[in-house]
Amino acid sequence: MKKILSALSALLIATASYAATPWQSIRQPVPGVSQSIGAFANGCIVGAEMLPLNATGYQVMRQDQRRYFGHPDLILFIQRLSNQVHHLHLGEVMIGDMGMAAGGRFSSGHASHQSGLDVDIWLQLPQTRWSEQMLLKPQPLDLVSADGKTVVARHWQPQIDSLIKLAAKDSDVTRIFVNPAIKQQLCADAGADRDWLRKVRPWFGHRAHMHVRLRCPAGSLQCQDQPAPPPGDGCGAELQSWFAPPKPGRGKPVKLEPPPLPAACQALLDKHLL
Ligand SMILES: [Zn+2]
Repeated sequence: MKKILSALSALLIATASYAATPWQSIRQPVPGVSQSIGAFANGCIVGAEMLPLNATGYQVMRQDQRRYFGHPDLILFIQRLSNQVHHLHLGEVMIGDMGMAAGGRFSSGHASHQSGLDVDIWLQLPQTRWSEQMLLKPQPLDLVSADGKTVVARHWQPQIDSLIKLAAKDSDVTRIFVNPAIKQQLCADAGADRDWLRKVRPWFGHRAHMHVRLRCPAGSLQCQDQPAPPPGDGCGAELQSWFAPPKPGRGKPVKLEPPPLPAACQALLDKHLL
C-alpha cells in the first residue's frame, strides 16, 4: 500500500511539475548575447529583452502574466509594425503573449512561444487607448461565425486585412497563423498583390488573434527553423480542406509528452534550479 501511495505521489509530483513548468520561476532574462535556442515549441532564450510597456502605437495586454519577453528581433518587429500601423492611422496594435523571461514551456495556453520569436497580436485596432483595467482583462473579439465557415461581417474591417498584410510583408516574418475563415476572407479581399498570403497559415483557434513567427535570427546557431510554407497563396485546395467534413484521422494534433529539451536549455534550467 505504501509503495502504491509513494508511486502515486511521485506521479502527482511529476504531473504537477509539468503543469507548473520550472520556466515560470525564471523572472528575469538570462544575461548574455541574445540567442534563440531550439524549436519554437521546444526551446528557450538567452539574453531576451522586455518589450517596452509604454509606447506609442501599441499596448501590452495582461502585463501581470509577464509574457512580454523576446529576442531583440521580435521587439524590433513589434515596433516596426506598430510604427507603420500608427502612421497609417489604423489604430492601436494590441500585443498579447510573447514569451517568458528565459522562454521555455508554459503551464497552459501555448505549445510554442518558447524561443522568443513568437507573438500573439489581437485582430482589433482600437482607435483609443485602453485603460489599465481593460488591458488586464481584455475582451477578445471573436471574428469567426459559430459554424466556423466565415468571418462575422459586422466585426470584419479592412484595417484587419491591412494589419495582417503589413505583418506578412515584413521580411523577418516566416509564418502567421489565423483561423481558416480569416484566411479565406484575406484571400477574397487580396486582389492582385497576394504573395504575402503564402505566409498566412490556416490553423485551429486563432479566431481573435494572429500568431506571428519570425525566422531564426542570424547568430542564433542553435535555433531550429521550419521549412518554408508551400509555394502559392494557399487559397486553393489546402484552405478548402479545412472546411470539408473531418476525415477520420484528421484533427487537432494530440498532445504528446514533451520531447527532451535542447542541451543548452536543460543546462540553463539546471543552473537556475541549483
Ligand atoms: Zn500564439
